[in-house]
Amino acid sequence: MRVVVLGGGVVGVTTAYQLQKDGHEVVVVERQPQVASETSWGNAGMVAPGHSFVWSSPKAPMILLKSLFQKDQALRFKLSADPRLYTWSWKFLMECTAEKAKRNTLLKHRLAAYSQSVLQQVVADEDIRYDRNTRGILYLHRSQEALDRGIAQMRLLESDGQEIRILDRAGVVALDPSLGAAADKIAGAIYCPTDETGDSALFTRGLAAKVAERGGELRTGTTIRSIRTDGDAIAGVETDKGEVRGDAYVLALGCHSAEAGRRIGIDLPIYPIKGYSLTIPVGNHPRPPTVASVDEHNLVAITSFGDRLRVTATAEFAGYDLRHKPSDFAFMKGVTQDLYPDGADYDRAEMWAGLRPMTPTNLPFFGRQRYGNLYLNTGHGHIGWTMSHGSARITADLIAGRIPAIPMDGLLAA
Ligand SMILES: Cc1cc2nc3c(=O)[nH]c(=O)nc-3n(C[C@H](O)[C@H](O)[C@H](O)COP(=O)(O)OP(=O)(O)OC[C@H]3O[C@@H](n4cnc5c(N)ncnc54)[C@H](O)[C@@H]3O)c2cc1C
Repeated sequence: MRVVVLGGGVVGVTTAYQLQKDGHEVVVVERQPQVASETSWGNAGMVAPGHSFVWSSPKAPMILLKSLFQKDQALRFKLSADPRLYTWSWKFLMECTAEKAKRNTLLKHRLAAYSQSVLQQVVADEDIRYDRNTRGILYLHRSQEALDRGIAQMRLLESDGQEIRILDRAGVVALDPSLGAAADKIAGAIYCPTDETGDSALFTRGLAAKVAERGGELRTGTTIRSIRTDGDAIAGVETDKGEVRGDAYVLALGCHSAEAGRRIGIDLPIYPIKGYSLTIPVGNHPRPPTVASVDEHNLVAITSFGDRLRVTATAEFAGYDLRHKPSDFAFMKGVTQDLYPDGADYDRAEMWAGLRPMTPTNLPFFGRQRYGNLYLNTGHGHIGWTMSHGSARITADLIAGRIPAIPMDGLLAA
């Protein structure tokens, strides 16, 4: 078949790769001059099944409410005139019971762990340089009480096969001596040795080059204006450079899938949740992190990509507004500098903001809705780089009429 993939982020490109592997002709339509230029560009790079906890948890309603009145650094919920914010928030709140949070977290963990295994296969098959680091991720806690709570919570993922190790302060510093200067600020960590990191933009661009070498079409710099339907099928995609047609289509437009879906009668509750990141050259600094970490108290993620650090933070409801200013980054920079004082050339940090395509369940949409030849692979939220590889394989399997390698109950709309 000729399959048209709408969107050239990590989700679209991994999907094109898996489809091509199955023998299909693939076309990727992407508005930016290069693939992985939007959300898939500046993320923290964590391939982290150990980070599968959903945001729609029993604690979330109070956190959202408080953020209306307090200037919180991690979460910024703002009222707006956008009615979709309220319909989405209502659906999100409906997922916040303990039972649903547990169910959604386990589904997400299933997908994330499977996805990591697919990534490992791709890495074995293809030579792609993306500053991969397989030394695990440290989930740092600043007090013993917080560490104990974190351990109790992590048992859920452990029950689903996640390997965890509990480290005290000395154990953390032994694993990553670059945290030595901040040892007195850390009580300990939950260490997930099988989690890994890597630059998702480098990976996506490397993979896209492989797809192109094998005859796949990358139509970058091409904006999709509308999707043309004919009864219960998609007939073509209208772009600023003419129509693109295929036998099947995959919707992988990240945050923009909601609008594209709406225009053809598919309701996809995907809302943009803005995050910020810094990319900081290590320069001559001798102590960059050697193991990625998440400061669970401040909700700041820190990853080392070879000669750069990537630091991310913040969940902000700001619609599709990608603007940012230096003060948005001051807190996360301060936290990083505090943990790794000699880790990077902090004065040369590059600022970026991106939009997480969040769904109320925190799970992506798969499969078909309404149209026989349109497949969804979208809404990957805060760990879309982690879940993309498995999601791509699942989508290719569904298109081939094969049963995916993991049970799809709960992941596929009935
Ligand atoms: C601050 C931050 C930190 C994160 N950290 C992590 C992490 O550590 N680990 C992890 O797993 N995930 C992380 N994520 C999440 C991850 O980055 C996303 O889930 C993932 O990148 C989503 O990929 P995507 O392909 O769905 O979306 P995108 O990368 O946004 O791709 C969608 C593509 O569609 C294109 N497009 C949109 N409209 C049109 C149109 N009309 N015509 C043509 N093309 C169009 C866009 O240009 C874009 O390239 C983070 C996200 C943020 C914001």
